Amino acid sequence: MSTTYAEHLARAEQALRRFRDVPVTHLIGGMAVPGSGATFRNVSPVDGSPLGEISAAGAAEVDLAARAAGDAQAAWARLPGATRRRLLHRVADLIEARADEIAVVESMDTGQPMRFMSKAASRGAENFRFYADRAPGACDGQSLPTDQHLNYTLRTPIGPVAVITPWNTPFMLSTWKIAPALAAGCTVVHKPAEWSPLTATLLAEIMLEAGIPPGVANLVHGIGEVAGKALTEHPDIQAVAFVGESSTGSAIMAQGAPTLKRVHFELGGKNPVLVFADADLDRALDAVVFMIYSLNGERCTSSSRLLVARSIHDAFVERLTERLAALRVGHPLDPATEIGPLIHPRHVQKVQGYLSLAAEEGADVRRGAAADSLGPNYVAPALLVGARTTMRVAQEEIFGPVLTVIPFDDDDEALAMANGTRYGLAAYVWTNDVARAHRVAMSLEAGMVWVNSENVRHLPTPFGGMKASGIGRDGGDYSFDFYMETRNVAIALGGHRIPRLGTGDGT
Ligand code: NAD
Repeated sequence: MSTTYAEHLARAEQALRRFRDVPVTHLIGGMAVPGSGATFRNVSPVDGSPLGEISAAGAAEVDLAARAAGDAQAAWARLPGATRRRLLHRVADLIEARADEIAVVESMDTGQPMRFMSKAASRGAENFRFYADRAPGACDGQSLPTDQHLNYTLRTPIGPVAVITPWNTPFMLSTWKIAPALAAGCTVVHKPAEWSPLTATLLAEIMLEAGIPPGVANLVHGIGEVAGKALTEHPDIQAVAFVGESSTGSAIMAQGAPTLKRVHFELGGKNPVLVFADADLDRALDAVVFMIYSLNGERCTSSSRLLVARSIHDAFVERLTERLAALRVGHPLDPATEIGPLIHPRHVQKVQGYLSLAAEEGADVRRGAAADSLGPNYVAPALLVGARTTMRVAQEEIFGPVLTVIPFDDDDEALAMANGTRYGLAAYVWTNDVARAHRVAMSLEAGMVWVNSENVRHLPTPFGGMKASGIGRDGGDYSFDFYMETRNVAIALGGHRIPRLGTGDGT
């Protein structure tokens, strides 16, 4: 039987109590470390109520964590892959055992509806299991023989690494980074977003309880421009895996430049969904609605720009408007809720600012169910009809439940519009014409293209963006390319000619 709203509320009350009662500390070298005593207040997006005082790391705590990770690095890298596999599976077991707790804490900390967060833990556990099974082969290389040499490659972990994560679906995203890093043999310092810090503490505790040795997975809480900055500048940190805004990616690249950090960036998006007249329009409609209004639109891969063939534009937009009106905005723990409160008043201001801008730019702004009475962070979902591709609302990432709609006349125009932003994360194509599907997929400037599908993730496939949407790919073996160094060893098979200098014989 499915869990009721009342049961979710009771579970949340119980799970959140510990964060309210006792300050939330860093976890460094296997120990709870309060740090200097500086804290920041974490509040719930649901009603602004306090969810806890969180330790705010400065350079000293970051240094402690980076050194703990450095001290643990050699032993963790030396552990047999099979042992790392066992430990990571144990982490997955414990995540699954605490799945309900993780889900309600995540939901209350981020405002994301339970209908999506109930899967947050299982997705996180899946990430750990997937990379657990790859741990024994992480060091595997290639054999590249020539007539005269046997070349073979070896991979060794690059760690310690910094993992810096954003506030949307923080639990799932952090497992996606931390699991491959640990499987590769890297130690980690994780700095979660200050607007949603709680499930990072649950994950750090779980890893310790699972037997991940002290110092291998460290957690520092704090403000991005202070703790995050110190972490990206720390000389002991070899690489930075970052998920967040494109502008923060630029800052991190500059901060890491003096110490030549390797960086992996998963950044923003303004992802197009192209709907052609020959598509299965019922399925396309379901996917368009899902990919912008699920997860409150606070989703890097959201299809925030609908490019639709002019011949079907009016009818498609009419059906979209009906769906918009029927979307259920409400408390994130209510199983009926489809859209919850946005993460923070500053983010609400940003989203509302774009809605005012859309009206000023001449778009027809259509709104879903009024939401203001629920609380200050609730925003009615929106559809911006009659937009043009030059408008700021068609170019900039809004990161809320707002869909910009633009008609196109032919394939070339659709592609030009789709590619006409600085971003290149994901793109979605709806057509029943096979040749068109391939042609369009090959021409889209996006790291990931889904044809006749919404965002369905298969873990071995590469995940990431081009242009301002990112550098590098996650998933499968792609993650190990980032978390490991590749070394080539060339062994002469004997007898190849070595140039003889200083012999006077001219050879
Ligand atoms: P953000 O860039 O503001 O913050 C992300 C993290 O970086 C936080 O932990 C923050 O504290 C830290 N940070 C901020 N300034 C820093 C600095 N100078 N040095 C080091 N760390 C710093 O992003 P956000 O608002 O938390 O998240 C939303 C953004 O994340 C959106 O742009 C979204 O598209 C993107 N995102 C991308 C993906 C992807 O896979 N491409 C996935 C999820 C979210």
